[in-house]
Amino acid sequence: MSDDCIFCAIADGDIPGRIVHETDTTLAFLDANPLAPGHTLVIPKAHHERLNDTPPELAADVMTALREVTIAVEAAVDADASNVAFNNGEAAGQEVPHLHGHVIPRFENDGGHPIHAIAG
Ligand code: C5P
Repeated sequence: MSDDCIFCAIADGDIPGRIVHETDTTLAFLDANPLAPGHTLVIPKAHHERLNDTPPELAADVMTALREVTIAVEAAVDADASNVAFNNGEAAGQEVPHLHGHVIPRFENDGGHPIHAIAG
């Protein structure tokens, strides 16, 4: 838990999140400002700012959860594909300094440019 971290507050249940998946070490919830229907974030429950300072075992847990969430979200919104990505550090567009992977459903000819879109 890190003071003033919005994603720690969601993980701790102190503020509501629309949770779609949970394991002992990870949590997934719908993005509050979705770039596409079903846009979901996957976080480690423990506070680590970015991939570089996340223990390898926990990073593996996040990847496993990302895979399961990607499959479920694509099915839920009938997506054709998805972008699964991290903004890893402030200069790369990371706005919330608690590691999170984005799952952004994609549809044929949706016209999105997601790498730029999630860089903020
Ligand atoms: O990768 P980046 O840090 O830019 O992404 C942060 C994401 O967290 C944004 O997509 C934003 O909509 C989301 N967010 C959220 N709930 C909050 C604050 C931010 O879903 N309370």
